[in-house]
Amino acid sequence: MPDDRFPTKVMQRVVLAGGGHAHLAVLDDWARTPLYGVETWLVTSDRFTAYSGMVPGWLAGHYRAGQQLIDLRPLAKRAGVRLVIGTVEGLDANRNQLTLSSGESVSFDLLSLAVGGEVDTSPLASLGDRLLPVRPMNAFVARWPLVLKDAAGRHGFSLVIVGGGAAGVELALAAEYAFRSISTKPRVLLVTSENGFLTGHARATIARVRAELEGRHVEVLYGDVVGSEDAVLLPTGMVIDADYVIAATGSKAPRWLKASGLALDRQGFIEVGSDLLSVSHDNIFAAGDIVTRTDREVARSGVHAVRSGPVLAVNLRAKLNGQILHQYIPRRRTLYLLATGDKRAILSWGAFALSGGILWRLKDWIDRRFVRHHTVTAEQER
Ligand SMILES: Cc1cc2nc3c(=O)[nH]c(=O)nc-3n(C[C@H](O)[C@H](O)[C@H](O)COP(=O)(O)OP(=O)(O)OC[C@H]3O[C@@H](n4cnc5c(N)ncnc54)[C@H](O)[C@@H]3O)c2cc1C
Repeated sequence: MPDDRFPTKVMQRVVLAGGGHAHLAVLDDWARTPLYGVETWLVTSDRFTAYSGMVPGWLAGHYRAGQQLIDLRPLAKRAGVRLVIGTVEGLDANRNQLTLSSGESVSFDLLSLAVGGEVDTSPLASLGDRLLPVRPMNAFVARWPLVLKDAAGRHGFSLVIVGGGAAGVELALAAEYAFRSISTKPRVLLVTSENGFLTGHARATIARVRAELEGRHVEVLYGDVVGSEDAVLLPTGMVIDADYVIAATGSKAPRWLKASGLALDRQGFIEVGSDLLSVSHDNIFAAGDIVTRTDREVARSGVHAVRSGPVLAVNLRAKLNGQILHQYIPRRRTLYLLATGDKRAILSWGAFALSGGILWRLKDWIDRRFVRHHTVTAEQER
């Protein structure tokens, strides 16, 4: 006779690691349709997640403090998920175990990893406190008001942004706008690789962005820089004095993945198929900035992280029920709206580019709607 007090089947545990763009849709799905018979956990390093689309607008001063943040606590509560605030610093994929920086370990039956990428700051490390890496984004957001305070009333205040991706360009233009009213003759410089900025975007978009940067006196320099105590050095020997340096140099895979046992690409990103399942472990999904697709090239961007979320949600459920997995198939062209800091935006869609104030209003509407959708009001919490 089975003893009813001890269930013969131990409850399975599904763990989400990372509470960012890719996992928001999963929390949403679980709130709508709870997963019965399994324990669900969210392990994430911060209670709040900054919605990246609004960060440049916030930097430019168009949003109140906190308006770009999503509070994960009520979302987890609504989804019936146990929230653990902790930083993963190890994974043993063969033993189904995560290790947190606190020393605790978290075991799982099914894992979804979306902890986002890191920024490689090693060439700029000598800058010390002058260096602001864009990740962790919450730390970056916390430090920006101090930069503004420092720039206020100064003549010739100099900010260097290293990284010519969409984030670097948007931050340079947002910073130029923010400094305009508080300091005289501020210098904003964007340093990008020899390949130029916004690689992967069409020529029409790059031309519009170049004109925008020129018109706003944001100087663009090319080459891999290294930092010194108070400057960055270009390979040409040119020295650029910097009060602060923002590192927006793109995503680097977390180092701890190396020892995880997961199949990784040469740069250390997790290899997944179109179903977002690890190619080496069939109980580990991964999405967002820490993955490389083995079937096609998919850019590491918030757009793809967000869009892969609903597929992750369906597939976690399907895996538990032994059903067929869905695929995340990106659209052939991705629409990007790049904020120019002055309440305008540049639309980039395939070979097509457009700029104007109405595009900023559209972006603002989309972004606010996204944050609102993932915000649990006090009334809903009751
Ligand atoms: C300033 C800026 C502006 C950007 N603007 C755009 C844009 O306009 N459009 C666009 O498409 N993309 C944009 N991006 C890129 C976009 O932010 C990323 O592609 C996207 O955030 C990736 O989503 P993700 O879910 O992989 O990771 P994230 O959204 O970064 O989420 C990672 C989550 O994991 C948590 N975490 C991190 N490390 C650990 C750990 N070790 N253990 C536990 N938890 C951890 C974090 O706290 C966070 O909750 C921008 C990026 C920046 C920096």
